[in-house]
Order: sequence, then structure tokens, then C-alpha cells
Amino acid sequence: MDAEAIKRSLQGSGLRCTPQRYAVMEFLMEHTGHPTAAEIFESVNRADPRCSSKATTYNNLRDLVKAGLVREVAVEGRAARFDAKGMRHHHFICDRCGNVEDVKWYAVPRPASPFLGKRRLRECELIFRGLCTKCATRHESR
Ligand SMILES: [Zn+2]
Ligand SMILES: [Zn+2]
Repeated sequence: MDAEAIKRSLQGSGLRCTPQRYAVMEFLMEHTGHPTAAEIFESVNRADPRCSSKATTYNNLRDLVKAGLVREVAVEGRAARFDAKGMRHHHFICDRCGNVEDVKWYAVPRPASPFLGKRRLRECELIFRGLCTKCATRHESR
């Protein structure tokens, strides 16, 4: 995604394209390894210390998540990780190193209506848990 595309997607979601929001989006497009809010802040701040306090960065991140441009991946017991990839995908979270990896998208069958009651389902995605490739091979060789 280039600069214009970032601007367009921000505006398309009704968000003003502020330098901070732009910086957060740009960082997430370039770093697809699901960084934490702290990592995003560090990098955005390093690039331009004038324009981002920690609170601003975190608020912008919230706005982007709410607007649907950024996805928050909750990792139990660790900091949430963020993802700006437009393509739908599932996630794999490693029990040992906490790494969050993308799993290619495939449609998940929607639960039958008795499970949902009156809730309205927007999407249905999976989180796989276990050992990532690196940790799994380390485990075997021991
Ligand atoms: Zn791992
Ligand atoms: Zn992801």
C-alpha cells in the first residue's frame, strides 16, 4: 500500500489523515509481524518525536481498530498485537514464544443459530494455539 492508498483508506473510514495516524498505518504496513502498541509507539516516536506522545499513539491505534483498518489480536497474558493487513486471515499464537503468525484464510462454518441467540455475527475467525514451527522443532530436537 502506498501513501495515497493509506490516505484513501483513512478518509474512506471517516478518519482524518493526521501525521500520527498515517505514521501508525505506515509502520503496520511495513511490519507485518504483529507488533505491540509499545513497539509501534517506539518506532513512530523515533521517526518523528514531535508528533507523538504515547497517549496519542495509543488513541490513534484505538481509532484505527474501531474504523476497521487495523486488527487487534489479543494474546492472553501478553500485550495485544496489531495487524493492518487488509486480507482476511486466521492467527496462530505460540504458547512458548508468544509469536503471532498468520494462517491463510479459509471460510469457517458459521455456528448454528441456537449458539448465537440474538447476537449478530459480523465475522468468524479462528485463533490456533500451540507451538510455532521454530519452537516445535526446538522441542523435538531435545
Ligand atoms: Zn514459538
Ligand atoms: Zn495477522
